[in-house]
Amino acid sequence: MSQTNRTALLQDSAYLEWPFFETRHAQLQQALDSWAAQHLLHPAHDPAQVGASCRALVSQLGQAGWLRHAVGGKQWGGLQDVIDTRAICLIRETLARHEGLADFAFAMQGLGSGAISLFGSAEQQARYLPRVVSGAAIAAFALSEPEAGSDVAAMQCSAVRDGADYVLNGEKTWISNGGIADFYTVFVRTGEAPGARGISAFIVDADTPGFSVVEQIDVIAPHPLARIRFENCRIPVSQRIGEAGQGFKVAMATLDVFRTSVAAAALGFARCALQEALQRSTTRKMFGQTLADFQLTQAKLAQMAMAIDSSALLIYRAAWQRDQGKKVTKEAAMAKYVATESAQQVIDMAVQMFGGMGVVSQVKVESLYREIRALRIYEGASEVQQLIIAREMLKEFSAAQSATEQQARQEA
Ligand SMILES: Cc1cc2nc3c(=O)[nH]c(=O)nc-3n(C[C@H](O)[C@H](O)[C@H](O)COP(=O)(O)OP(=O)(O)OC[C@H]3O[C@@H](n4cnc5c(N)ncnc54)[C@H](O)[C@@H]3O)c2cc1C
Repeated sequence: MSQTNRTALLQDSAYLEWPFFETRHAQLQQALDSWAAQHLLHPAHDPAQVGASCRALVSQLGQAGWLRHAVGGKQWGGLQDVIDTRAICLIRETLARHEGLADFAFAMQGLGSGAISLFGSAEQQARYLPRVVSGAAIAAFALSEPEAGSDVAAMQCSAVRDGADYVLNGEKTWISNGGIADFYTVFVRTGEAPGARGISAFIVDADTPGFSVVEQIDVIAPHPLARIRFENCRIPVSQRIGEAGQGFKVAMATLDVFRTSVAAAALGFARCALQEALQRSTTRKMFGQTLADFQLTQAKLAQMAMAIDSSALLIYRAAWQRDQGKKVTKEAAMAKYVATESAQQVIDMAVQMFGGMGVVSQVKVESLYREIRALRIYEGASEVQQLIIAREMLKEFSAAQSATEQQARQEA
């Protein structure tokens, strides 16, 4: 699609008038959309150079001021003291619509430094956050291990206290920005209690002796991704984020902020696929008319539009609710499940409409088809989201039942 057409189509921003948003949100989205149309015009990224491309994008996003939204704390360069969930969702949606790697670069600066924004000491915040905001330091979030993915509490990687230091040993895998990050927020077992209550969070600088990147992992949509290792890696106690044994809480609170934004990235990919499908189906001639003239195509376009609007409603409900200071465990899980699963279907329908062109390498819908897949797995696979939704609903049901029983007893 030509840039002129893309720009014209991308101006459909009626949803910004929904009551979830304030005027500043619409202004932010429109400013970013114009910036992205001018600056994110990269040709397809060479998979072998994806680390360098990502570094360049972080620096570009930092210089343009967009990374100010990714951290909390005005004194460290953040735009607000508390991360604005609607803003990060709009940014991820918009960047994803223009370029997947730009969304990834933005998201990882936020996720990788999120624990420092939320729970870091003033010294940690002063040391890391200004460089995250400017793009001078690249952040990573290291939770998963080869034997502990969905079951986070099964982690083996450990830290043992030795005087004024901790000594880390073990491996983490699937670490986004692994190999290019300047620092890693790492969650390891410190053993204060069994399971999830015996985990602590630390900041490990990439140049710390005993830290190494042992494998770069190639994935279907190229991103910097690695397996990392700690071998007698010694870090001072001052690098611990929050209290000892509170690491699981730190990790979950960080994911709570960013989970809805994964859904927003999926929404951006889906919107891009719909626009590609509209463009293609209204211009592709067949059987004496265009593809869009067939009712079977119109049914697909309608399904795509409904999937996109229902995802957007769930995403911005969760983001708005979180910005009101309310708990969003269930709402964020609903948004992530629906947006990622339905974006996959929307993109698949777009590929189908493109016919053979849809599976040609680097054609936009082909890239989207690869790009969306991992979002249904990371930051909690779809099955995990379903379990969260049901668990929260059962808790609410049980609480409502107890309240009714108590009221009945009081009235008796
Ligand atoms: C591209 C990419 C980037 C990533 N980036 C990071 C990162 O930056 N930092 C980080 O720490 N991790 C990262 N991850 C890891 C990611 O969070 C894990 O892959 C995810 O948690 C799943 O863990 P796993 O791969 O070990 O799969 P497993 O835990 O083995 O799960 C496999 C499958 O089992 C199913 N499943 C899981 N639980 C249940 C259940 N209760 N009932 C039924 N079915 C279930 C799901 O379909 C799941 O996909 C990334 C992963 C990918 C693919």
